[in-house]
Formats: sequence, C-alpha cells, structure tokens
Amino acid sequence: MEWLRGLGVSISEPRPFMAYGRGRTVDPAAMTATLGNQVARRGGTIHLRTALVELLTDEGGAVVGARVGGTNGLCPIAARAVILATGGFQGNPDLLSRYGIPNGGSLYLRSNPWSTGDGLRAADAVGAALTPWLDSFYGHALPAPPARFGPDDFFALAQRYGPVAVALNLAGERFVDESAGTGEETLNWAVARQPGATAAYIVDAATARRAYYGFVPEVAIDRAEASGGPVVRAETLDDLCTALARWGIPAGTARRTLEGYNRALLGHPDADLHPPRKGNRYPLAEPPYTAVLVRAAITFTGGGIAVDPHMRVLRRATSSSLLPTAQAAAGELVRHAIPGLYAAGADIGGINTYGYLGGLAAALVTGRRAGRQAAAWAGAAAG
Ligand SMILES: Cc1cc2nc3c(=O)[nH]c(=O)nc-3n(C[C@H](O)[C@H](O)[C@H](O)COP(=O)(O)OP(=O)(O)OC[C@H]3O[C@@H](n4cnc5c(N)ncnc54)[C@H](O)[C@@H]3O)c2cc1C
Repeated sequence: MEWLRGLGVSISEPRPFMAYGRGRTVDPAAMTATLGNQVARRGGTIHLRTALVELLTDEGGAVVGARVGGTNGLCPIAARAVILATGGFQGNPDLLSRYGIPNGGSLYLRSNPWSTGDGLRAADAVGAALTPWLDSFYGHALPAPPARFGPDDFFALAQRYGPVAVALNLAGERFVDESAGTGEETLNWAVARQPGATAAYIVDAATARRAYYGFVPEVAIDRAEASGGPVVRAETLDDLCTALARWGIPAGTARRTLEGYNRALLGHPDADLHPPRKGNRYPLAEPPYTAVLVRAAITFTGGGIAVDPHMRVLRRATSSSLLPTAQAAAGELVRHAIPGLYAAGADIGGINTYGYLGGLAAALVTGRRAGRQAAAWAGAAAG
C-alpha cells in the first residue's frame, strides 16, 4: 500500500471487509490511470488494443522480444526482458478442456473475456514448464439459465452460501462435502464436474437467515430469483422434491438423498453419510425450504506457467517431474530459467490450487517482483 501511495494512488481509510476483518479500497479506474501516467512519466509507452501473439527468441533460447498484433497487423517489438501477465486462461474453453477442466463450454465466465491463455501458450511455445493442478480454478456458482445478468452482477449474484446448503446434482445425489475447502469456490469447482456444470443448492429457513462469511443466504437467493434464475420454495421437503422434477432432478432420488442427509445430521445411529459432511452440519429442519439451481463459474485459473521465486519462467526440458522429488537429492533437481522471460499474476500457476488465497494481492506481489527482476536483467543485458 505504501508503494501504491508513493506512486500517487489514492487509498481509502480502513473499513470492514466481508467476514475477513478490515481492508482499504481503491477506485480501479483511477488507480489504472495513475499507474499508466507513471509509466509514461518514466519514458514507457502503453500500446492499447495490441495483443501478445508470440515470443521472439535468439539462437541461445533467450527471449528478446514479442510479436504483437494490432490494428496494423503483426509487428515485432524488441525487448531485453518480457513479463507475461495476461491473466490466466479461463476465457478459452479449448485450453480448459485440454487441461482437465470439464464442461468448459457450459461454465459461466465470471471475469473479463480477454484472458484466453495467450501468455501460457506463448510460454509453452518457447519451452516453459507448466505447474501441476492445471485443472484448478477459482470462481463462484451463479444462478443457472434462464437467469440474465452482466459483469456488474458477478459479485452480488455469487451463491456463496453453498457450503451451508445441501448440494444435489441433476441425478438428485450429493456429490461432495459441501463444507470442504476454503469457501464456496471449492464447492463451485466440484459443481463444474457435474453434468451440465449444474447443481441445486438447498437450504431451510434457519440456514437462509444465517450469515456465512458476512453474506446472508436469503439475500443471494432473492437476487438469484430477481435475475430470472430457477428458484423453488415449499413448505415440506416432499413438496420441494416434487418441484425439483421440473429441473429434471428425479424427485424420488432427491427425497432419499435429503432424508439420508437429515438422518445422519440428526445423529441417527444407522445413518452413514457419503460424501461426508464435516462442517456446517445444519439439517434441513425449518420450513419453508428453498432450492436454487446454480451453474459453476470460472473467475481465474489456478494452474499455469511455472516460475522460480524471482518470477523467472522455468524451462521444462531440464525441469524434473514432481514424482521423483521424494527420491532424488535436492541437488540433482535442476530447473533452469528461460533468460529474459518472467511471469506474474494469474498467468503463474500454483498460487491458488485447491484452496483460494486471493488474486489481487498475488498479482501485486508477483508483478512487482517480476518487474524488479526484469529491469535488473534488462539493465545488465544493456551493459
Ligand atoms: C468478478 C471478480 C471478482 C474478483 N474478486 C476478487 C477479490 O475480491 N479479491 C481478489 O484478490 N481477487 C479478486 N478477483 C481476481 C483478481 O481480479 C485477479 O486475480 C487479478 O486481477 C489478476 O491480475 P492479473 O494482472 O494477473 O490479470 P488481469 O487483471 O486479468 O489482467 C490481465 C490483462 O491482460 C490482458 N490480456 C489478455 N491477453 C492479452 C494479450 N494476448 N496481449 C495483451 N494483453 C492481454 C487482459 O485483457 C487483461 O487486461 C476477482 C476477479 C473478478 C473477475
């Protein structure tokens, strides 16, 4: 924050932030303009509407620039160092499916539409290593079609209460411990693996009122309904299951699943729950009951380009598989960096994998580090 303030970015006084504590806000548009002016003041140029197409390398494999595409076609830009920061590959269904994220064509894209993996593909083409967990991603389930919404609704419509609800797939079965992980992003990841990337989140009246991470479920449910999303309410679980049939969920299976869930949570001795429910053990007990049909959404990918702590992109040819690390001596595992190539933000893999650590702080920290290292490298190369 001190660094941003030093560059002239205006930062608010601390204020409460969700259930995490206190935080400060910035106006993204004003911050971007201020930082852009700083680039210009220091002699830099920002080329808008100009996309990275591929990296340029010399005979020794060092990165010496990039080919970019703009309104005048393709052109090369020479550079002593390049930092890849194109924001991940969530906007590219082909890459999602190549790296094991199913239903890529059905997932909602809960981000800008321009992060289509150009950084990852350019790095891959010059021999970069990729991280494990390429199928991991962060996002929150949103109301299923026919809900209508736009980018300004991504935050308000997120159905974050999933971990306190019961989640059924279209077959009427539970498919995961809803409470597992760091928040609804973990459940959303599991929903993405279900047919149609779709599930029903079910709560009773008590849970609908109970705040989860500072969010009250019934507020998100009302917003889902107002957006045109599928929501049903009923006075009995039996009637709710009958209503689920209109979404193609078999009423009989749903009934058995919810009864089994309630029996297990109410401590019935012969009840054995699969998948288990380790946290938020709230039975569906108080009418009315509400079900919301949701669809998984992807905000940014968790796997990506492999870097060292200096944000240098690592070469795959000499990098080691993770498998033998338990057997090989540390000194035998040599991973070389590609000279002149750095990466930052969501283009880097391995920061957010199964759990969610946040995207903005990761982008800020890795971006600053990559910038410093790239500048040092470019300065040294210039002699
Ligand atoms: C709705 C929403 C809510 C979020 N909430 C939070 C939150 O509360 N807390 C948090 O920590 N994070 C949050 N995030 C995530 C956070 O915004 C991202 O993790 C972060 O912005 C990533 O920064 P980045 O610089 O790597 O990528 P981005 O900020 O996505 O920037 C990448 C840029 O690269 C551009 N680009 C793509 N391809 C090319 C190309 N070929 N050539 C040139 N440019 C290209 C894109 O247009 C984009 O402008 C949220 C994201 C969204 C969408």
